[in-house]
Amino acid sequence: MNRIAVYPGSFDPVTFGHLDIIRRGARLVDRLVVAVAVNSEKNALFTGDERIGFLQEAVVGIPGVEVCRMDGLLVDFVRHLNAHFVLRGLRAVADFEYEFQMACMNRQLSSDVETVFLVSGEETMFLSSRLVREIAGMGGDVTRFTPAGVIPELRRRMMARLGRGPA
Ligand code: ADP
Repeated sequence: MNRIAVYPGSFDPVTFGHLDIIRRGARLVDRLVVAVAVNSEKNALFTGDERIGFLQEAVVGIPGVEVCRMDGLLVDFVRHLNAHFVLRGLRAVADFEYEFQMACMNRQLSSDVETVFLVSGEETMFLSSRLVREIAGMGGDVTRFTPAGVIPELRRRMMARLGRGPA
């Protein structure tokens, strides 16, 4: 059987924590669709297309992975693809409540959508897009946290947002 999973998120921007989940998740299925949510864009630093572009570059060479844009409800996206499950990453305890709520809500919306969690790797369990954005904005070194291609624009935008440099 051709097993398909969907890994949804904002990926604003992609971090090595996301990539760890993608690498390990890809080994469990034939096709892993990374779904970049563009509907909850309110305050995103990068546009949907930019986030997709960074991810596409980062997943080159990981077999069975593709990156897609997701405009609407996750359960509709999953149904449309005939995917078998939703993949999410879990960091320590901080993610639990939100992830639990989301998984239950998605099951309410579509009873056949299962969510499968991968526990984060020890080296990436502290990583979040928000922290990486903040560190970059304050001029910190983020080379160990996010792919090199993301960094120049990340730094520029965050510094502009924090009023620390030219836009
Ligand atoms: P969202 O914006 O949907 O909350 P993100 O784009 O930040 O999510 O992340 C997508 C998924 O990746 C979520 O399941 C999140 O818990 C997981 N994730 C993010 N960072 C890490 C990490 N460092 N280790 C493991 N999982 C992570």
